[in-house]
Amino acid sequence: MECLFCKIIKKEIPSEIIYENDKVIVFKDIHPKAEVHLLILPKKHIVSVNHLEEEDKELMGELISTAQKIAKEKKLTGYKLIINVGREAGQIIDHLHLHLLSGKKIELP
Ligand code: AMP
Ligand code: ZN
Repeated sequence: MECLFCKIIKKEIPSEIIYENDKVIVFKDIHPKAEVHLLILPKKHIVSVNHLEEEDKELMGELISTAQKIAKEKKLTGYKLIINVGREAGQIIDHLHLHLLSGKKIELP
């Protein structure tokens, strides 16, 4: 079965998309663990940080720049960026993603 996040990218499954360009997409987490809880991911299917290749370095930079851009637009004065790597660390979706969390009552995703 195809990856859930790839289906969201292809708009086969609905989501609340905040931003997208040809390489990156940002949408709201379906079970928010803070007032603001967004997922920032590459459109390219990369399983996890452990699966990054040399050629993906620039793409990782874009994910961080996207977080910065969204935070600025939303006037977030402080936020956390979290990447879970592997089941033990709580990664349940095998498509690399950054959690952007901000606001009160942040629970770690
Ligand atoms: P992780 O545990 O790091 O793999 O994070 C996966 C995240 O994806 C969780 O915080 C889920 O709440 C979120 N999630 C799962 N399904 C969806 C969906 N259909 N739309 C938006 N977020 C989702
Ligand atoms: Zn995928």
